[in-house]
Amino acid sequence: MLLAEMTWPAVKARAPDTPVIIPVAALEQHGHHMPLFTDSLLLGEVVRRAHEPLAERAIFAPLQWLGNSDHHLDYAGTLSAPPRLYLDLLNGLLENLIHHGFRRLLIVNGHGGNTIPGQQAVFETRQRHRGRSDLLLLFATYWSLGGKPAEVNPNLQQQSMGHACEWETSMMLRIRPDLVGPLDRLEAVSRDFSFEPAYHGWVTQDRSVPGHMGDPRHATAEKGETLFQVFAADLVKMVERMLAWDGRSWRE
Ligand SMILES: [Zn+2]
Repeated sequence: MLLAEMTWPAVKARAPDTPVIIPVAALEQHGHHMPLFTDSLLLGEVVRRAHEPLAERAIFAPLQWLGNSDHHLDYAGTLSAPPRLYLDLLNGLLENLIHHGFRRLLIVNGHGGNTIPGQQAVFETRQRHRGRSDLLLLFATYWSLGGKPAEVNPNLQQQSMGHACEWETSMMLRIRPDLVGPLDRLEAVSRDFSFEPAYHGWVTQDRSVPGHMGDPRHATAEKGETLFQVFAADLVKMVERMLAWDGRSWRE
């Protein structure tokens, strides 16, 4: 079910045990070859595919496109909710759904900058409702749900997500090739961090001049199809775990 297309009595009738999925992404620079709405378009496709087998069993909220992208603000067009504002926004969404009686909530994320505020939001929400044991509050990023695309399609060179990289460019070639610019003049940009295992605070310009991280020249639409299949299947599995939860225990 799509929350945006339901009436309020229909929503009320589905509480409390129907899982609610809250997709969150971004509008931020994706290098010289991809559009600002990349993260939102890609997560939208993952969610669209996952919704098909789950349509009768879960409610999908509309995708929240404004994300925490302050680290990309040196690049024109990026729009960002600063981290604390974004944290409040996610807390508010979770509170709205709890207020309406729902107990099984999953924020599904499509942008790295949302990860820390998103995890903090589910953590804070749990603390506010600490007397309850019937809330399942989850946050997950779609490319970190366990699937290993390179094992499914050995043509994939990248093993984990970059930025406007082989993975994201492949997925965009699969759904909107008209929005992907020429790749042949691009160069590989390292996806590595430094000073590990410390977490190194960064702005995008520290790591990339053009804006991408990875090597988009390896992208193909065929790889994009593999990525979408793996990520959508991962999301369906997670929602099925939410459905199977007994409604009170910490463990599944
Ligand atoms: Zn992206």
